[in-house]
Amino acid sequence: MKSMGPIPAWFAAEEGMLLIGGCGAASLVDEAGDTPLFVYDMDIVGAQVRRFRSAMPDALHLHYAVKANPYAPLLARMAGLIDGFDIASGGELDMALGAGMAPDHISFAGPGKRNDELEAAIFAGATIHLESEGEGRRALAAAEKVGKTPRLAVRVNPDFDLKGSGMKMGGGAKPFGVDADRAGALARAMIDAGADWRGWHIFAGSQNLDPAAIIATQSATIALAARLSDQIGTAPPLVNLGGGFGLAYFPGDERLDIRPIGVALDSEMNSLPDILKTSEFAIELGRWLVGEAGVYLTRVVDVKTSQGEIFVVVDGGLHHQLAASGNFGTVVRRNYPIAIANRFGASPVPDPVTVVGCLCTPIDRLGDKVALPPVQEGDLVAIFLAGAYGASASPSAFLGHPSPRELLLG
Ligand SMILES: *Cc1c(COP(=O)(O)O)cnc(C)c1O
Repeated sequence: MKSMGPIPAWFAAEEGMLLIGGCGAASLVDEAGDTPLFVYDMDIVGAQVRRFRSAMPDALHLHYAVKANPYAPLLARMAGLIDGFDIASGGELDMALGAGMAPDHISFAGPGKRNDELEAAIFAGATIHLESEGEGRRALAAAEKVGKTPRLAVRVNPDFDLKGSGMKMGGGAKPFGVDADRAGALARAMIDAGADWRGWHIFAGSQNLDPAAIIATQSATIALAARLSDQIGTAPPLVNLGGGFGLAYFPGDERLDIRPIGVALDSEMNSLPDILKTSEFAIELGRWLVGEAGVYLTRVVDVKTSQGEIFVVVDGGLHHQLAASGNFGTVVRRNYPIAIANRFGASPVPDPVTVVGCLCTPIDRLGDKVALPPVQEGDLVAIFLAGAYGASASPSAFLGHPSPRELLLG
């Protein structure tokens, strides 16, 4: 038997049926038409946003990293809840504008921006977060072509990383951002070329559950932003401090307490270096905002045994929920929280079961030797923490199965 990550404490059942946003899982499947299905509960997203606002300094902006979940109905609701969208492609630019986000609250980071993407973003009035000197040159040319003054920021590859992150995005040689020792020169060149200077973007890591590590990184980020700004002699309108707030996906994980982070950031923002005293600050979060709000529901097609081991085969799999199979940003495969939705809260049977997807590959495992109540054909399996990096981050064309359905509640 192997343990699984903690099921978020607010999930409950009515007559054994898992409730999501107050509705039974089976009736949600009926409403959507079939399994596999992602259900997102906007009330949980809203509660998370409120948790952020009450813990963090009032002046701090909250941005949403669209790549975590770009489902259009969800994005449209996010646009009214948060202060800006961070995008990473021309496709996400269209989604962000389509969701009703004001262009001057959209920032475009990410390596490999093509000229047509730069042109579209600059024309729309979004801010480009430059990832290299070459991209700076191409952004100026794109601005010239579309006849607009470009809003430019520089993404800095910091000379430190966020300790203990699930996914490292800063420190050392990286394809993201410009090394800290060259970032000032790039910023100066863009300002001298007539760009509308927007400031710094410093993102040091992701999926972190250690408040002390996040606090230390934010402090180092503010110091780096001040050093770079002093170097170019220009105050940044905005400093994007990155994000990194993680979720408790796995056995032994505890939900991140953001209150000490808010206290530390409040004191940082009350004693800023002179050059940052007029700057605004933002944090960009993806999974932390939407991950807990999603449940992936998939139906049991077959229950079989092999050499004494029980396999539960479902109609979903890694083609929809790659992360739960352990093949997205994790080194060691561990179990996401998983349950039988129509027998929620029932006692597990003594023999563990392995829940596999319907793809013909050994890596399509959604639950490895987990303790579950008795399972039959037709049961509904629920995988929690499925609101981020699910439907849009999984190889849905692999093996030709249908795309998952998605449903937004609340
Ligand atoms: C992916 C990404 C995020 C969001 O990361 P989460 O772990 O989902 O919060 C934020 N900023 C940048 C630059 C990213 O690439």
